[in-house]
Amino acid sequence: MKHKCGCACGAIRFEVRGAPLNAAICHCSQCKKITGSPMFMAPAFKKADVVMERGEPKWFESSDIAKRGFCENCGSSLFFKFNNTDTIDVLIGAFDNPGGIQPTDHLWVSNKLPWLDVDESMPLYQTDRSKKPMNQKD
Ligand SMILES: [Zn+2]
Ligand SMILES: [Zn+2]
Repeated sequence: MKHKCGCACGAIRFEVRGAPLNAAICHCSQCKKITGSPMFMAPAFKKADVVMERGEPKWFESSDIAKRGFCENCGSSLFFKFNNTDTIDVLIGAFDNPGGIQPTDHLWVSNKLPWLDVDESMPLYQTDRSKKPMNQKD
């Protein structure tokens, strides 16, 4: 499976190979700021499976544990990368055909916008994945 991806202006193009490891929807305040959107959704892949074809993102160190990649020309948000893993999240809007990728869980539901309904059949995490989902029964 191969996915063609890029930013809004076309200065950055890349290919993503294989099935995602997971695909979180995140409601944290930083993801809202970075994307300018009510929430963030980004499937995760092994870094080696994301192959740049044209251009390179600019990286913003959004915290001391992670950075965010974007197009310097058009401002499209493209990547989220924890510093200590070999995976990279690719923002769903970067995919030319995003419809085939399903979300797997919700992060930072504590910060979800009140008008947004979520599919409760998925794991819903109060914050990150370090604690068990709030809708998981013991
Ligand atoms: Zn661009
Ligand atoms: Zn987030």
